[in-house]
Amino acid sequence: MKQSQLFTKTRSEAPKDEVSKNSELLIRAGFIHKEMAGVYVFLPLGLRVLENVKKIVRDEMNKIGGQEMMMTTLQPKEIWEKTNRWDDAVVDNWFKTKLKNGTELGVGLTHEEPFVDALGEYIQSYKDLPILAYQIQNKFRNELRAKSGLLRGREFVMKDMYSFARTEEEHNMLYEKVADAYYRVYDRLGVGQITRRTFADGGIFTKKFSDEFQTFSDIGEDTIYVNEEKKVAINKEIFTDETLEKLNIKKDDLVEKKGIEVGNIFPLETKYTEALGVRYKDEKGEMQPIIMGCYGIGISRLVGVLVEIFGTEKGIVWPESVSPFKVHLVELSQGDEVLKKKATDLYEELISKGIEVLFDDRDARAGEKFADADLIGIPHRIVISKKTEEKGVLEYSNRITTETTGKTKEEIIEILK
Ligand code: ATP
Ligand code: MG
Repeated sequence: MKQSQLFTKTRSEAPKDEVSKNSELLIRAGFIHKEMAGVYVFLPLGLRVLENVKKIVRDEMNKIGGQEMMMTTLQPKEIWEKTNRWDDAVVDNWFKTKLKNGTELGVGLTHEEPFVDALGEYIQSYKDLPILAYQIQNKFRNELRAKSGLLRGREFVMKDMYSFARTEEEHNMLYEKVADAYYRVYDRLGVGQITRRTFADGGIFTKKFSDEFQTFSDIGEDTIYVNEEKKVAINKEIFTDETLEKLNIKKDDLVEKKGIEVGNIFPLETKYTEALGVRYKDEKGEMQPIIMGCYGIGISRLVGVLVEIFGTEKGIVWPESVSPFKVHLVELSQGDEVLKKKATDLYEELISKGIEVLFDDRDARAGEKFADADLIGIPHRIVISKKTEEKGVLEYSNRITTETTGKTKEEIIEILK
């Protein structure tokens, strides 16, 4: 893409009421637009990153047998009444609306009930199970505070998966498979090393824990206790003597840290399937309950997390796996038509090789172009200028390794491939 065609522009300051690093950098670099507190538009650059995160999540969910579908945002109140989750006194962050005839509707904030309701139609016998199904969709939650940019939206993008199993054993197998896939997602996003599976509250209807995936960060809202050696982490919310005893771990062996919850998986037992009357017929023809699990990943939150973790005072530094473009080609032709032509040819050659390029072909000062490239944060950069022409090379730099060297076109293509 030619940067001269990109309608978004960088800006030197974010709106005054933006206090988080992620939203400030993302707004200044033109990735997101603030609609209102906790509600953000994904602009062309931002959407490319969001879609890249989705692609990784999708890929890992498909690999373990997840089947993608898409639920509806508008929700009938009846199915939520069956599980006692409609009442505002029970679930306090619903957005609700009404049909013209007065019928109340919910605006989807999670999707256990509708998944059970929809899939229930296709679950009859033991042969129909197990099932892993998921969606990537906008969720709506009336969050009390929305001051941390993409980390806490009132409208945000989540991947939510649901498993349906015949036995506890089968459920546990699926549950661990998903947990492994989550680690692969965080690894591919470059935060695997600083993300820990963390024991957390399982909810009111199970004695089991849920498992959160917490990425270490000083700005995290969660307090967790971590033992690196034993690979154990516990959320403060369940940090009691009883929990420690259950997990056979001593207080002194744990270190307190802050974390951002980037995923959460729950054993739901038979709570939702039973409440909605979905069972299966076993080999003997007897009706049996279905054991369920649910698995969330904060897709848009992760975009914010990557900026919080890798961003510097100069700008964003995207991990290669989600960068909006593979390489930023910056030409400093400054009116030299021959040089401009050479840069344009290079741009077209890179594209023909399947390399995604953002080409800064704007007539702007070198300082402005570099500052913008720093802000936008594409990890590989090529500069073509009078200086590089004199030396007979291209200037290649890598924002992750911070290396800058003169290289030939062939050498750079080799790196990018
Ligand atoms: P939190 O404790 O942060 O409010 P939650 O436990 O209510 O989150 P879940 O229902 O477990 O969230 O949702 C699954 C995942 O979706 C979370 O692990 C998180 O990554 C993401 N998520 C939840 N709420 C938001 C939000 N308001 N904005 C962005 N992402 C969110
Ligand atoms: Mg959670």
